[in-house]
Amino acid sequence: MTRLEFTRKTKAAIIARAAGKCEACEAVLKLGEGDVDHILPCALGGEPTVANGRLICRVCHAEKTANDIRSIRKADRSRDKATGAIAPKQKIKSAGFPVSEKSAARQTKIPLPPRALFKPADERNV
Ligand SMILES: [Zn+2]
Repeated sequence: MTRLEFTRKTKAAIIARAAGKCEACEAVLKLGEGDVDHILPCALGGEPTVANGRLICRVCHAEKTANDIRSIRKADRSRDKATGAIAPKQKIKSAGFPVSEKSAARQTKIPLPPRALFKPADERNV
């Protein structure tokens, strides 16, 4: 997936809306300071629109990027587990189904008579 950057027009609209302030912490920014940031990261399906963009200061942007990276990695792991790209670390453990009396009786083995009582098929008819 290619990263979708904001167009110059979109960036200008976002910067104008911010009116010289960080849109996260309200810090006053000088002309040219601050970064235009994707609110929903591009990697998580965020689009380069005015609604998904905001002007934030460097400090807020560094913090936001760190959180975004964590979210993106988590999404990657979830996707990989769901598609089977990575195997689960351990087998799923469950308590199992409760054993009813009927099925418990079926599972108990009925002891066979001792081997000496068995006769070959040709001897039985005599
Ligand atoms: Zn800020």
